[in-house]
Amino acid sequence: MPELPEVETVVRGLRDVLLGRTFRSVSCNAPVSSIELSRSLGKSFERALAGRRVTAINRRGKNILIALDNNSTLWVHLKMTGQFRYVDSNVPRQKHDLVVFVLDERGSDDSDCNLRFNDYRRFGRLRLYPNDELWTCPGLADLGPEPLELPAGDFVELCHRRARQIKPALMDQTFIAGIGNIYADESLYNSRLHPLRLSNSISKRKLIELHGHVQYLLQRSIDMMGTTVDTYSGVNGRPGTFQNYLKAYGREGQPCERCETLIVRKKIGSRSAHYCPRCQRQA
Ligand SMILES: [Zn+2]
Repeated sequence: MPELPEVETVVRGLRDVLLGRTFRSVSCNAPVSSIELSRSLGKSFERALAGRRVTAINRRGKNILIALDNNSTLWVHLKMTGQFRYVDSNVPRQKHDLVVFVLDERGSDDSDCNLRFNDYRRFGRLRLYPNDELWTCPGLADLGPEPLELPAGDFVELCHRRARQIKPALMDQTFIAGIGNIYADESLYNSRLHPLRLSNSISKRKLIELHGHVQYLLQRSIDMMGTTVDTYSGVNGRPGTFQNYLKAYGREGQPCERCETLIVRKKIGSRSAHYCPRCQRQA
């Protein structure tokens, strides 16, 4: 699933092609579960978007927020395999192109491009809400702080507030927003912390170290256009390159770069944690 650096890369790609432009028309071939329209916007999703101009594109956690000129926002979550692609309108529509956004003309060089939302697993969501309703929606209203904006001292306080297993806590979007399996595994590996260590049993010094690794890894991955381990790629179709620098995630059975013990993969809840059983002791 795309996490903060991948979603940030998509947001930046969308700004390049979408900012200031108007949706001339929108056509959907999406299952009902993929699309949601606030009742107050009346009409169909397609009709509510047609003619609207994009005024800003921002990220909050793993959410993409496309602000429109009528005080409404197109709120997108990519979930597992959702992708935006900016392609020439002559490219045949693909089976999993669920929504096609036809844009106004920008210039002679790319007047015939359109933006497509493709999602073969179909867990992605596109929702259209008036701004005053938007921030009351679960999934946005209950988000924790942004990790790149959170001071170290506040992170320590958050972790010490109550006893939580550190990896599930890092991945809980209401605890801190934007981190998933990849960056949780990597930051715990770099900090030599076992994924099940209780958050309030970790020293302040160690939590400051963890906070530093979280920020460093997220920023470094943004600089590399994210991590591509499955289908993720940017709006321009290019994959990220941070997967070449992973030290724990996806490396089960390979030697730890610090001590050569083999990295293990263990189920924690419904997800797998990757860690070095020697460098990352539970006690
Ligand atoms: Zn090790």
